[in-house]
Amino acid sequence: MQDYNINGLAIPLFLVFMLLEYALLRLRGQKLHRFNDSVASLSMGMLLLISDALLKAYTFAVFIYLFEHHRVLEFSPNAAVTWLIFFFAVDFCYYWFHRCAHQFNFLWGAHVGHHQSEEYNLTTALRQSAFQYAFSWIFYLPLALLGCPPQVFLLLFILLKLYQFWLHTLLIDKIPFIEGIFSTPSSHRVHHAKNPLYIDKNYGGTLVIWDRLFGSWQPELTSERCHYGTTSALNTLNPVKANLQHWWLLVQDTINAQSWRDKCRLWFKPTGWRPKDCRNKTTANPVPLQKTGCNKRKKYDPQTSLALKTYVALSMLMIFYLCFSFILLSPSLSAMSLAFGAGLIITGLVSANALLENKLGYLAIESLRLPVTCYFIATLSTPLALAFTEIIPAF
Ligand SMILES: [Zn+2]
Repeated sequence: MQDYNINGLAIPLFLVFMLLEYALLRLRGQKLHRFNDSVASLSMGMLLLISDALLKAYTFAVFIYLFEHHRVLEFSPNAAVTWLIFFFAVDFCYYWFHRCAHQFNFLWGAHVGHHQSEEYNLTTALRQSAFQYAFSWIFYLPLALLGCPPQVFLLLFILLKLYQFWLHTLLIDKIPFIEGIFSTPSSHRVHHAKNPLYIDKNYGGTLVIWDRLFGSWQPELTSERCHYGTTSALNTLNPVKANLQHWWLLVQDTINAQSWRDKCRLWFKPTGWRPKDCRNKTTANPVPLQKTGCNKRKKYDPQTSLALKTYVALSMLMIFYLCFSFILLSPSLSAMSLAFGAGLIITGLVSANALLENKLGYLAIESLRLPVTCYFIATLSTPLALAFTEIIPAF
């Protein structure tokens, strides 16, 4: 089992739930998905899963090292109280990571991707910044020092992330008795809204008691309908550009600022802060960055033909399958295969989104990418079959 990254098994499950949500909404006569927005969100999700698969082993090794050499307390992984204490502790650390990710310029760059979707549905749950995990893991290291057994942390961390999936839906209204205690679709809708009243509220992962304790709680009001997305328009479906959007602005300001003090401190200032001499520059995103602004902006929604949409849908299914195989088998793949597979997935996702923006030049890239992808999938088919014969009996 250690030869496989079983997180990959969640991918088909996510797909089933997303299709179910779509079907239920259509049965209700509601159309709350836009094809291009969903493709962009799923593309971001797959980029995260790749970076996660490549990073997690190393970052978890640091947690294990601190636990084994520097823990100050002892907790048995077999005691219920251990699980209870660290359920709250993991959620508490998540709250502070999430809050810092909204409050500091450079960390916002690692989280903004999750907020860029202008729709709100289960595909939004998978839309995450590819670099988020590169920063978030540091916030959990105090738990290792405290004595949280690594297996307890890992399972609670996975459960915390899985819990958040169902929060991203308009299907579920307020839930009696648990609003204000647990994070719910209603409280999380507020978190994703760009209405000034709702910005930077409800950071809680599983619990929102932290928001109530630390002053960031805001219930959803019937008088204030949520408008989703970031306040500065992204205006692209490209998942690589979406991941780098905010950091690119910070890099531009670092180059343009005259003062060395400003060049350094702008990364650690509150999100949206810019050096004085950059504020009037006519960049794509004039001051202030991201955090204040409109809630009725026209959505970025390039129109394209049904033929292109059908092609992109089939292409995304193929990339989904490749991503699933790649992540499941990632611990046993060579560095060359990892780099090649990641490159193929990224190229496929960039190309699919570019086609939805009517950039037809990408069809030339597709003519090369398709046969290479088929070949790579074929090379993974034997180890994938072997993985299933080992994993399924283990369950
Ligand atoms: Zn957030």
